[in-house]
Amino acid sequence: MNDATGALLQDVWLVPMDGPDAAPLGDVRRGDLRVRDGRIVALGALVPEPGERVIAGRGRHALPGFVQGHVHATQTLFRGLADDLPLLDWLRTRIWPLEHAHDAASTRVSAELTFAELLAGGTTTAQTMESVRHAEVVAEEAQRSGMTVITGNCLMDEADPHLPPGMATSAAEALAITDELRRAFHGHGRISIAVSPRFVLSVSEGLARDAAAFAQQHDLRVHTHAAEHPAELAAVRARFHRDYVQVLHGQGLLGARTALAHCVHTSEAERDLLAATRSSVLHCPSTNLKLGSGIAPLADYRRRGIAVGIGADGAPCNNRLSMLTELRQAALLQALDAGPGQWPAAAALAAATRGGAAALGLTDVGQLAPGKRADVVLFDLQDPRLGVIDAQRPASALVYAASERHVDAVMLGGEFVVEGGRVLGSDWHELRRAAAAALPGVLRRAGLAR
Ligand SMILES: [Zn+2]
Repeated sequence: MNDATGALLQDVWLVPMDGPDAAPLGDVRRGDLRVRDGRIVALGALVPEPGERVIAGRGRHALPGFVQGHVHATQTLFRGLADDLPLLDWLRTRIWPLEHAHDAASTRVSAELTFAELLAGGTTTAQTMESVRHAEVVAEEAQRSGMTVITGNCLMDEADPHLPPGMATSAAEALAITDELRRAFHGHGRISIAVSPRFVLSVSEGLARDAAAFAQQHDLRVHTHAAEHPAELAAVRARFHRDYVQVLHGQGLLGARTALAHCVHTSEAERDLLAATRSSVLHCPSTNLKLGSGIAPLADYRRRGIAVGIGADGAPCNNRLSMLTELRQAALLQALDAGPGQWPAAAALAAATRGGAAALGLTDVGQLAPGKRADVVLFDLQDPRLGVIDAQRPASALVYAASERHVDAVMLGGEFVVEGGRVLGSDWHELRRAAAAALPGVLRRAGLAR
């Protein structure tokens, strides 16, 4: 559809996500959406122009594609292989050995599966953190998917007795890999590269400072984990004698280009620091539950004006990559943590779209508006299991009741990539076969053969 005449998506419920914070969905109305050269040029009651391709929207709800702030594509192959463990054991006994055992081919299978699964669930933009090696394979697959993807190799140089031998690199090598990725992919198509220290405990003080300087020098985003699990916090305090977010600040890693996954346990001082530095938070509710980490104080972050995005995190700690699952979990947890109504369904939907875009510093996704990229999800909400919905108020159905089966179609830049719930150009049967072929070698190399 990237032609001069473009296309007109007719007769949809437009959910622009451009309203004020108290009513973020904006003016939900039945109308049409015009696309030219991959971008939205108009919304409303539109008349087809000569030569324009007309697409029947059939009364679907059209939302901006979801933005997932925190995903590990490299881990998707490891779904179901690391259940029922707390964070540090989960990392040490399963995830690090498995990541280190990846080769380029198994990483590619994991990445292909990730992007197909994300698209099938309506996610059109993602920030991913990859392993120490083979991140270029993920960047290639991200490029092939057509999604908007921020990605990077995780930085790990700290000698840790729990790491598989040879997994950590030198500080220089870690950033040299990031620099190679930057030269090969950053700004090419829809891909950008983020400087991605894994977490405080796996990065030396010197590398952390060099990473901050490198990000500053090349105007790259910073993506890391922070303040996730009580045992991790205790280890950080024991080593640094300061709170987690304060350590990151001291290393120069906070700022308007920085997004921190989790931030489950933060003090008043740390929250002040997040707000003052305009760092953003990436909330991963299913992971926080599954690893027994806790409940992130989103309603409080929202009151403080801290940008919050949502992500599924890794398949081995979720075990889905579904934004709809995370939306439901996030809203339910805030009802428990802050009280019903303090972070309502509409706020969750905002975090899944424009809020996620803001948290990642992306200005051309997350809303349906002229000039934005035509990344659109079409939901079929005509299902009695969703209730008798008021079409102008779809937040409740989407956040609390809908599932992937209600994703009818997805467009990237105005091109359909999912139709009738099917990911075009991907074959689940083939992906399953490739995953089943790749996994035994990884398990063997990891010393975890079943
Ligand atoms: Zn993570």
